[in-house]
Amino acid sequence: MLSYRHSFHAGNPADVIKHLILAQSLKHMVKKDKPFDYIDTHSGAGFFALENADMQKTKEYEDGIAKLWDYQGEVAAISEYVALIKGLNNTESLAHYPGSPKVAEQYLRKHDKGWFFELHPQDLTLLEKNMSGKRSLRVKGENGFTGLLGLVPPISRRACVLMDPPYEIKTDYDKAVDSLIKAHKRFSTGTYLLWYPVVERERIDRIEQRLQQSGIKNIQLFELATSADTDVHGMTASGMIAINPPYTLMQTMQEVLPELVSLLSDETGFYRAEQLVAE
Ligand code: SAM
Repeated sequence: MLSYRHSFHAGNPADVIKHLILAQSLKHMVKKDKPFDYIDTHSGAGFFALENADMQKTKEYEDGIAKLWDYQGEVAAISEYVALIKGLNNTESLAHYPGSPKVAEQYLRKHDKGWFFELHPQDLTLLEKNMSGKRSLRVKGENGFTGLLGLVPPISRRACVLMDPPYEIKTDYDKAVDSLIKAHKRFSTGTYLLWYPVVERERIDRIEQRLQQSGIKNIQLFELATSADTDVHGMTASGMIAINPPYTLMQTMQEVLPELVSLLSDETGFYRAEQLVAE
């Protein structure tokens, strides 16, 4: 029984770092004319209205995108991310926030393919509606961990994969790593992005150790902590582990993350930008 609904969390600081890195990665993919596949293993509904009762209940977007809406700073990747979100709003003020499928759709060209997996019946229906109209975009009501393995290596031989599980079931932590290792064995040149929440730090330490021991090369980690780690339940930080990231991503994130800490974190917040495994 799936209970997680991303509508409670859309636009929060975790979405900011996740979607900013996704946008930077796809911007890099489209630098070449050659087609590529985008695979979103855990898509969610795809697009969220602020007036939605779930978003209004938690108002998590107030700690994330809302604080960046009027961004006038000098970090180009943050300005690009805010412009992307503004482009999906028809209004002066924030009214909608995109999920990863809609972020990706902004970059996918006619000859690229998009694959979107979602298991929650209600979110699947919303996702089908939000992503309808383009034959190159396929929504699948299937398990994204195993669905990914059926799609690699892609015919295009180029792919960007976003894996963004809800982690409501604790086995997701190991399943995500298992699935990445298997996918990478079949297709080692793809770009893989794994999002993670820091609720219990030991679980993330284990993900890092498993990937470091996997034999996979060229892994980077980017994390934004809005406050220090704690034993009290709740997410204090989130991050993205990137396998075969764009060569520009480390430098970009070294500019982005300190700025996001100053804009979104409390005085105990911090960031990480690390090469977990060398190229
Ligand atoms: N990637 C989305 C975004 O950035 O807007 C958010 C995704 S949300 C964190 C995780 C989603 O995965 C939920 O909508 C949940 O219903 C779905 N889900 C859970 N287990 C799944 C599985 N095994 N395969 C595909 N989708 C799954």
